[in-house]
Amino acid sequence: MRGAGATKVIQEGASWYECDQYLRETVMTEAKEAGEMPVYVPPFDAKEIWDGHATMVDEIVAQMGVGQKPDAIICSVGGGGLFCGIIQGLEKAGLGDVPVLAVETKGAHSLALSLEKGTLSTLPGITSIATTLGARTVAPQAFLYGQRPSVTSVVLTDEDAIEGCVRFADDERIMVEAACGKRSIKDKVPQQMMSGDVEEVIIWPTIMGAWGDGLFQSDHDFDMISELENEAGLHKLMEVDIAKAKEDGDTNAEENFYYSMYGPSHPDVVRTYLDSGILVSLIETKKAEMLGPPSESHLFRDPCYAYVLLGACAMSLGCTLPLDYLNTLKKVYTEGGLMPGALKQMHKALYGPDGFINGVPYDFQSKCLLETAMAKGHQNQTSAGSSQSLNVLGPGGFFNTGMGDSSSSAIIKELREQHSQPDSCGGCGVKTQLSGEALMQCAKCKSRKYCSRECQKKHWKVHKKICDPALG
Ligand SMILES: [Zn+2]
Ligand SMILES: [Zn+2]
Repeated sequence: MRGAGATKVIQEGASWYECDQYLRETVMTEAKEAGEMPVYVPPFDAKEIWDGHATMVDEIVAQMGVGQKPDAIICSVGGGGLFCGIIQGLEKAGLGDVPVLAVETKGAHSLALSLEKGTLSTLPGITSIATTLGARTVAPQAFLYGQRPSVTSVVLTDEDAIEGCVRFADDERIMVEAACGKRSIKDKVPQQMMSGDVEEVIIWPTIMGAWGDGLFQSDHDFDMISELENEAGLHKLMEVDIAKAKEDGDTNAEENFYYSMYGPSHPDVVRTYLDSGILVSLIETKKAEMLGPPSESHLFRDPCYAYVLLGACAMSLGCTLPLDYLNTLKKVYTEGGLMPGALKQMHKALYGPDGFINGVPYDFQSKCLLETAMAKGHQNQTSAGSSQSLNVLGPGGFFNTGMGDSSSSAIIKELREQHSQPDSCGGCGVKTQLSGEALMQCAKCKSRKYCSRECQKKHWKVHKKICDPALG
């Protein structure tokens, strides 16, 4: 949340219910008394929230194509916001008969409880581990929708949810919390709901969104940054420093120590840490991944994008970037699928005017989620009544910016070949000339070999994109 621009994060209560209560009764009251104007954004019980969720059905319909419809839709229910949106969206698309499974965990099963009692009912407390999902009372509209014949209420155990998280981490290398765990629940789905051969039924975790097309403006970027932070050992460093501060009597250590590769908190600590050699080795790792053989995981995490995003983070912190890294960034920043705004920002940082100066913190001028929200709020004052969506789904949907990827890039391919077969002719691949003599090398960069003038000439069209005068 801090990474996305929140300046203050307060943790309170054992579950969402207590947290919400604290927000409304304490935080908002205090803010009012201090002359501020608190704004409450309801997480599930509001039409605007349902309207937003309903657009997921539009996307499903668009992706499946005309005449197709889903066998069933499965969604997790906390307060019922997503569930209401899905029912609404289905209705609007004329798909009101599509079966919907409303899934809860035991101990947070407020919808199931209400349906069982036949009246809107409140759980005495949240005993499920899915605490962020735990609304003790479901939205009244969700209770109404829940009674439709097309809806089946399913209650899973916490163990099912954990199993789903573990499997999702195993499949996608992404950890999600229990509240949005993808649960394999084939055996829980009533058979009559499924048509054809459904191998497995899965629940996707939360939607990936974007609030702009620049750097640091999407869940995609922040998820990737979080992975980079983890690889850099930043999360470990933070734990150690928090423990130390606690020993020294800092009761607010969790609040006070937050290290991010991108963000306003403690940039000096993070920069010093990265500049101690961590950045250089992380660059090498990311380069090896970018130039290694394409793998299945690249579908979700373009290695070229990660390589470029690492550079953007390091620039924002004012780290010292190796010159050959900056050179390579210039060649590849267009290849990883950056969105249009991000491409412009990176171009300016690399080529100027007023570009990145090595060792000086660079401002990419990306508006964070909060700033974007406030700017839109301001616009809304002039066009009263019109609502604008803020957290839009990135064009690529899950795990992707939708802007293509490096797997089909000629530049990456040439860099990869040069990297993996440094002793072969760039034109034809032979390792020695017919005469047995060593291969010639490109006079300019001295890092590409050729068996003959013809091969070099033929290959120049590709090679010139990455050929730089040799350093030193
Ligand atoms: Zn050749
Ligand atoms: Zn060359």
